[in-house]
Amino acid sequence: MKVHALPAKPRALLLDFDGTLYTHKAYAAFQNDVLIERLAQERGESPEATKAVLEARRAERRAAGGGPTSLGNLFVDFGVDIATSVAWRLELIDPRKWLTPDPRLAETLADLGLGLALVTNNPAELGRRGLAALGLGTIVTVVVGLDDCMASKPDPAPYALAAKRLGVAPGDCISVGDRYDVDLAPALALGMGAIEVSGVEDVYTLPDFFASRA
Ligand SMILES: [Mg+2]
Repeated sequence: MKVHALPAKPRALLLDFDGTLYTHKAYAAFQNDVLIERLAQERGESPEATKAVLEARRAERRAAGGGPTSLGNLFVDFGVDIATSVAWRLELIDPRKWLTPDPRLAETLADLGLGLALVTNNPAELGRRGLAALGLGTIVTVVVGLDDCMASKPDPAPYALAAKRLGVAPGDCISVGDRYDVDLAPALALGMGAIEVSGVEDVYTLPDFFASRA
C-alpha cells in the first residue's frame, strides 16, 4: 500500500472496483480479453492482431508523453465510443459468475465510518452487480460508472461527481485504487487524497491504518 496524499480529516472513500475490492487475476484478464475479442470481431481480424494494434497505440501515446490510460479511452481511438463500450461491457461481463461475497471486506468498509462510493470504468449497472456479488450492495451506496459522465478514468469527471453525490468536498475524499495513472492521478488533480493498493488485502488494513493516524 502506498499513501500519496491524505486529507486532514477524511470523510469519504472513492473506491475503484477491479483489482481493488477483489483480487482475481483471471477475472481481471477476462474483462480485458473479452473486450479486445469484441473489438477484433468488429475489425474483422484476429484478437492477436487487435492486441498488437492496441499495444502499438499505447506505445505511441507513451512516445507522445501521455501516461497510461484505460482500455475504454484507448478504444475511443479506434472508433468505439463510450456508449458502445458501455453496451459491450453490459453484454459480455457478468461479475456474478466470478465473484463471491467477502464478509471480511463488508465488515472492514462498514467499520470505517466514512462515506463510500464506487468509481468504476464499467457501466454503473455492472458496478452495482459487482458490489452485490461481493456482498457490498448496502454498504457502498453511491456508484459512478462509465455511463454517468460518459467519461472513462483517468478523466476526473467521475471523481468530481462521486464527491458531489456523497455531499463531501473533494478535499475531504480519498481515492483508493490499484492504478496510479487511472485511479489516483485524476483524484490528486482535484485535491483529493490518494491511496494505492495492490488488491483487497491492502483494503483490509485500512482500519488499522486510519486508527494509527488518529
Ligand atoms: Mg482497478
